[in-house]
Amino acid sequence: MNSVAYNLSENIGYCADYVSELSALLLYTHIGVAVTALLLSFFVLIRNRHSGIAWLLFCISLTFSGWAALNLAIWFGYDNSHLLMGAWSIIEIFSVLLFILSLCFVVTYIEKKPLSWWQILLIFVPILPVALFANTDSYLAGYDAQECVAIENELYIQYVRIIKIAYAIGIFGYLLLRTVQTSYASLRTEIAILAFGSISFIYSFMIAGFISEYTENFTYEIYGLFGMAVFIGTLSYLIVAFSAFNIKLVAAQALVTALALIVAAQAFFYSSGSELFIKMVTTVLVATFGFFLVRSVKREIKEKERNENLAKDLAKANKRLRELDKLKTEFVSIASHQLRSPLTAIRGYASMIVDGDYGTVPEKIIEPLRRIDESSHFMASSIDDFLNVSRIESGSMKYEMTMISLKEEASKVVDELRAEAVKKGLVLMYRSTTETDTHVNADVGKLHQVLHNLIDNAMKYTPNGQITVVAHDNPALKKAYISVVDTGIGMNPETAGSIFDKFVRAKNANTVNVFGTGLGLYIARQMIEAMGGTITPSSEGEGKGSTFKIELPLAD
Ligand code: ADP
Repeated sequence: MNSVAYNLSENIGYCADYVSELSALLLYTHIGVAVTALLLSFFVLIRNRHSGIAWLLFCISLTFSGWAALNLAIWFGYDNSHLLMGAWSIIEIFSVLLFILSLCFVVTYIEKKPLSWWQILLIFVPILPVALFANTDSYLAGYDAQECVAIENELYIQYVRIIKIAYAIGIFGYLLLRTVQTSYASLRTEIAILAFGSISFIYSFMIAGFISEYTENFTYEIYGLFGMAVFIGTLSYLIVAFSAFNIKLVAAQALVTALALIVAAQAFFYSSGSELFIKMVTTVLVATFGFFLVRSVKREIKEKERNENLAKDLAKANKRLRELDKLKTEFVSIASHQLRSPLTAIRGYASMIVDGDYGTVPEKIIEPLRRIDESSHFMASSIDDFLNVSRIESGSMKYEMTMISLKEEASKVVDELRAEAVKKGLVLMYRSTTETDTHVNADVGKLHQVLHNLIDNAMKYTPNGQITVVAHDNPALKKAYISVVDTGIGMNPETAGSIFDKFVRAKNANTVNVFGTGLGLYIARQMIEAMGGTITPSSEGEGKGSTFKIELPLAD
């Protein structure tokens, strides 16, 4: 009797020594990791109360903390068999549950939808025997005072081992399958990170447990818990890198709080007054910096959210503007078509009256009729301009490109307009200095329209003097040019930069010509650019004439 008592106290003394050697490591791994996990999942949960994945993460952390608390009870309860046996009898439920929840978490995270009822049933059924036999003699036969451990039923332990392996293989296999199936690089990275975290957690937890059972050295089991720290770390990274902004705040808050708690916990282990002082100062510093860090993250998030909202508003306004622009183009096109037909009638009848088709016209009617003809001519050409602009803007302008000689077409347009120039008392000349026959690819109708417009402008803005149309080329650069040079009102450099914009007319334009829409040059540039060329204006200043140069690539 005496010797048994002696041995018992000796054994317990041995267990006490073993535990006290490891106590700091035990507390750190169990409490530190569990608190960090709980904090992170708690912060995630309060911001995502309706997300299943946030609840799952929280359940994992709770289960892990429960397991850690029971395990600590087993470690420190070596001299209290009631506590030890109580904790021991239910700890396997927690460890198996951890595997089950990890599988649920991984699947829900990747599938982005909750599990179905039958899936949940299938995953949870294997834990039933573990739970049913937990608190019975068929699992724990008694307490082994020699080793300060419980005597376990081999069959029960074997079953637990097998289902843990099955879950671990399930998690690994599922992650592997999903990684291979995914063709999106960013999703694959996400899955790989999740795989790294969850596998290091589950496997280190499982393997460390097996090794410690096999070698009967339970120190290994403690190191297995670092897997949970890796799991939490990778989850935090996933949250920050792939999720919404406010989650960034969650991670920052959780990590800062955990860090502060861990540093504060250090303050309890001190050997001298100065060490205590240093540890307390460190705690205060960490807490202060942490506070500012969280505050700056909060500010950054607010700023980003504001910018995001602004960008959304801007996109909305942009869409509305585009719709309005389309409506306007359609309106202009319809209105122009409606105006065109009556105008043709007005012009036709006016010229027939002038020509005497309705009998002799009194002399004093001729002038007003000419005015009607002139104004309706201007109106018709303005309508043409509007129609062209609306076609250009709606993208419905069609180009029929053929090979033509630029200089020949220019000379034809000059011939067409010569009589009009003479009528205005201007000299209109054509000159060619080309080395090639200036073959270019262009839509001949549109090219005529542009040349017409430039020469017409030259005549409009040249009160007296001459207009020279020069055809020239540069075979080395493979370019052909037409320059329309006049001796008219010219323009200052600022004006030259803007006259190709819609509805822009220079200030000096009205002094010589009141008719004008400010659309001719806009249309001309759009057309020439669509044919692969450019138009550039130049002038030495107001009153010093202008030059408009068309440049087109020579055809091969
Ligand atoms: P519009 O002639 O109908 O006003 P354009 O688009 O053809 O419209 O020309 C835009 C403006 O460019 C004109 O109002 C005028 O101020 C200027 N401009 C065009 N051609 C000449 C030119 N040959 N000399 C001086 N100014 C010109």
